[in-house]
Amino acid sequence: MVSVLIIGKGPAGISAGIYAKRSGLDVTIIGKDNGALKKAHLVENYYGFIEPILGNELIENGIKQAIRLGINVIDDEVLSIDYNEDYIVTTKNNTYIAKTIIMATGSPRQTPNIKGLKNFEGKGVSYCAVCDAFFYRGKDVVVLGCCDYAMHEAKELVNVARSVTILTNTAPPQGNVPDDAKIVTKEIAEVAGDEIVEKVIFKDGSCIKTDGVFVAYGVAGSSDFAKKLGVITENNKIVVDDQMRTNLPGLFAAGDCIGGVYQIAKAVNDGSIAGLAASKYIKKLNIIK
Ligand SMILES: Cc1cc2nc3c(=O)[nH]c(=O)nc-3n(C[C@H](O)[C@H](O)[C@H](O)COP(=O)(O)OP(=O)(O)OC[C@H]3O[C@@H](n4cnc5c(N)ncnc54)[C@H](O)[C@@H]3O)c2cc1C
Repeated sequence: MVSVLIIGKGPAGISAGIYAKRSGLDVTIIGKDNGALKKAHLVENYYGFIEPILGNELIENGIKQAIRLGINVIDDEVLSIDYNEDYIVTTKNNTYIAKTIIMATGSPRQTPNIKGLKNFEGKGVSYCAVCDAFFYRGKDVVVLGCCDYAMHEAKELVNVARSVTILTNTAPPQGNVPDDAKIVTKEIAEVAGDEIVEKVIFKDGSCIKTDGVFVAYGVAGSSDFAKKLGVITENNKIVVDDQMRTNLPGLFAAGDCIGGVYQIAKAVNDGSIAGLAASKYIKKLNIIK
């Protein structure tokens, strides 16, 4: 059992970790990569650096600082979060149980640019297998994606749907393909139907008939986790109060995933507030016990 589990090792996650750790809690941070900053060449608007610093160097320094303070920083990808009094976090390599979660997963994912996809949102296009699988009991569904997250979503569906086909849209499939799922790697042209989704059309003119399209591109992001947990979002951003609390007890969010100004200074500020608020929450839990 972890007291504070932080998802994301960008400025928001690391800052949250530092504050929670220094208030005396055990903290684990799980991050897949260096987030938005790995793409930033030179940063010259962050406090305290006389000369511009490489984005990646800034983030690596933050990670080293966290490790020096005794924070457990783990390279892994979170696939799902469940809530049952405590939080159960499933990653590619492990399962963690935590009293509190701070989501610091960065900017919400963009919807893949596939013709027709947006038109059928809520009419056969879903972004959450756990939430919507039930509606597809005994039906044929497809999952869009190629990586571990797509395989995880497909696994949720195979026990419920009549058939599950993973459409990788030319990418090679990665991770563990569920036994009962099929893989199609053809390039996708369009998601089509009348009132509701009926088929996915490929660039070569062929098509696959389907009752549902589950979108699971890339890595699961804050909005995917939020949908599954029932966390309130607005325009794909997690809604928090001034203490970075979401509507779920013990679940906090910080940084780009809550919107506002997409800047390091703001992410660090959010992280510090979330770290302190999580610490307050844990200490209150211990007093009540
Ligand atoms: C090209 C570019 C240049 C920029 N330049 C500047 C600049 O000069 N100055 C400035 O202030 N800001 C700049 N920014 C913005 C800044 O990088 C972000 O505002 C900041 O990094 C946000 O911090 P964050 O911690 O919220 O998210 P991020 O830094 O994006 O970190 C997100 C973290 O979440 C992890 N994660 C996400 N999903 C999962 C998952 N499923 N499992 C495990 N881990 C996961 C990622 O691996 C990463 O560790 C720039 C951004 C870009 C893209």
